[in-house]
Amino acid sequence: MDWEIKDFLKIQNNQLFIEGVSTIDMAEKFDTPLFVFSEKRIKHNIERLKHAEKFIECKLKICYAAKANSNMAILRTVRESGAELEVNSGGELWKALKVGFNAEQIIFNGTSKTVAEIEAAITAEIYAIQVDSLYELELIETLARTLQKCANVSLRLVPEIETKTHSGLQTALLTSKFGMMPDEALSAFRRFYKSDFLNLCGIHLHIGSQTPDAAPYADAFKTLFENLLQIYNETGHKLSHLNLGGGFPVNYLLDKTQAGDFLPVQRDLFSAHIEPEEVLRQAWKVVEETAQNAKAFHLLENITLLLEPGRSVVADAGICLTTVRNHKKRPLKQLADSNQQLAVLPKGISIFKNLEIKEENQSKMQNDFWLLTDAGFNILLSMETYKWYYHLISAARAGETHSTPYKVAGPLCDGGDVYFDIEGENRLPDYRLLPENVQPDEVLALLNCGAYSVAQMSQYNGRQLPAIILIKDDGEIELIRRRDSYEDLLGNDIW
Ligand SMILES: *Cc1c(COP(=O)(O)O)cnc(C)c1O
Repeated sequence: MDWEIKDFLKIQNNQLFIEGVSTIDMAEKFDTPLFVFSEKRIKHNIERLKHAEKFIECKLKICYAAKANSNMAILRTVRESGAELEVNSGGELWKALKVGFNAEQIIFNGTSKTVAEIEAAITAEIYAIQVDSLYELELIETLARTLQKCANVSLRLVPEIETKTHSGLQTALLTSKFGMMPDEALSAFRRFYKSDFLNLCGIHLHIGSQTPDAAPYADAFKTLFENLLQIYNETGHKLSHLNLGGGFPVNYLLDKTQAGDFLPVQRDLFSAHIEPEEVLRQAWKVVEETAQNAKAFHLLENITLLLEPGRSVVADAGICLTTVRNHKKRPLKQLADSNQQLAVLPKGISIFKNLEIKEENQSKMQNDFWLLTDAGFNILLSMETYKWYYHLISAARAGETHSTPYKVAGPLCDGGDVYFDIEGENRLPDYRLLPENVQPDEVLALLNCGAYSVAQMSQYNGRQLPAIILIKDDGEIELIRRRDSYEDLLGNDIW
């Protein structure tokens, strides 16, 4: 099958195996919903990013974006893989230090940092606090002065760089909430570059997530360099790092069986594939030319380039196992009323684009077959907020033909908890294709679930947060999060 990945995800005995381990055995042992991660895959993904250093003429520092998944064992794996870390809150900073990252391996982003968070970052002496506004820069200077410390800071810019990703994932537009205008950054450098309490060491830009093509990265790198140049020309101050942010995409449509059910923009977004080395090679070329034309190549010497990848490190390293807990059949009313099936199937129509309409299929389509699973937007929130696509297969019958359409929904007492787009904007397929005759108790798997999933899960509907396991390099299975007990549902409630 097209979703198989050599030496990682494959079909064995008709079942889905991950790193040589049967997902069905794991579902039996740990129950579902269950997230399963591969240590090898995370390491592989980090290596792929590090490899890009060979295609540029400067040092590369990979700072994994903790917000994508900050489970402690995942952070540990990232650290052991030799990557560094980008955090977004005092909580993530605390976890980072606790799991053993050194301060100089940590950078700290965020639009609304508190005084306590800034003080913690200054005291720990992290690599850079990424400053989101002039107000914040002044605040950092005041706090550093009080602490009698010098804070390393990098200014986040917001030039207009548009990408083709989801609107909620665009972050370098003036309409987005992040960063400061390049001229504000310049005035900040004029004012503070001699400060004893601020080390203005870099500038930063993050163009967004799941960016489907390489060009915006080259634009962004060029913009960073032009700003660096202007800062140097006006102040004589030379920056030591440029930070190009994260956003490398993951191909969620490796299996194209349902690709025809997507609108072209959605299809391009979910099937995006770019190699980090190619992105950096192109971006470096543009910047090198710019530097040479400006006779300023010396400003690139000894510079460090930072990346902040989140999704591309963990998304395809994790899957979610879910069990069908209920099913039902519901007549397709429009079909029952008419013989002109294609014309009158407003939402179900997409299914006919891919399926050969055989006599037997037509009669099957008189009914919608519904499957109700135990994995809803309580554990995969972006399926609801961003209508994110996670390819669904049968883990129990992975090798069988997946061509029977089902309506699939999660367990929540919430009409939005479905695997399709109830708003009718066709951002997700209306049906999922699985083997024939899927019944309750069959274990299914959602693929590419490692990023922005367990990081966003909630106990909505009194549902216990799921267990997570990690398959280690040596094949050992490590429980890295135990399933919530009912007791855990009480949390910090006081009554
Ligand atoms: C979210 C975020 C990232 C990570 O983005 P991915 O698409 O997961 O790679 C990196 N940097 C910043 C500033 C972010 O907000």
